[in-house]
Amino acid sequence: MIKLSKRQDEILEIVKQNGPITGKEIAEKLSLSRAALRPDLAILTMSGNIDARPRVGYFYNDKFKAKRNPETILYQTVNNYKAHPIVVGKSTSVYDAIVQLFLEDVGTLYAVDSVGNLAGVISRKDLLRASLGNQNLTELPVSVIMTRMPNIITISPEESLFEAAKKMIQNHIDSLPVVREADGQENTYLLVGRITKTTITRAYLEIMDEKSD
Ligand code: ADP
Repeated sequence: MIKLSKRQDEILEIVKQNGPITGKEIAEKLSLSRAALRPDLAILTMSGNIDARPRVGYFYNDKFKAKRNPETILYQTVNNYKAHPIVVGKSTSVYDAIVQLFLEDVGTLYAVDSVGNLAGVISRKDLLRASLGNQNLTELPVSVIMTRMPNIITISPEESLFEAAKKMIQNHIDSLPVVREADGQENTYLLVGRITKTTITRAYLEIMDEKSD
């Protein structure tokens, strides 16, 4: 659920008490211009807190929860939805990585260096590809087969789920490592979570379920 600003709370209260009320009337009550009010009104209607009817005005949506717009997914931050990343060391064998994938029931593993910085991504297909050759999987380290920095597409906790969805679709990948930049070091990121296509689907379902409550 998005956190409202102080002004948005004030507007919501005015609409609750006086609705239906026009944008002009709300602006007058707050001694603001219509233009200054527009972004807040847009957020309040987008998020389903208030409804707008042409030529009637704004009124409070008392079924707010049941009417949350699917668009609100745009506002959710990665931080609120990220899952725990499943990590392996760079020298872990491909064999052990496959076992780990099954044990943890995930599609992607992340390789980290000794201080927890992201070093590589190991997906199902990477492991299958390695298994096709005649290599000894117990001797082959994941560092040989992983997608490594600087080729890893990452996302920060402050970005939105919408950004995450776009990055996954545009880059044809199933998941994104959630990272924080390590101080002053280029291409060095601390791994703090993961976002997958399932995360996006779950967020979408949550919002649609609330709508049909
Ligand atoms: P799968 O192998 O199950 O289809 P993906 O579609 O996520 O999973 O992976 C396809 C390829 O993209 C793999 O080679 C994998 O290493 C790479 N990959 C996965 N995630 C990322 C990422 N966030 N950034 C860069 N490459 C990635």
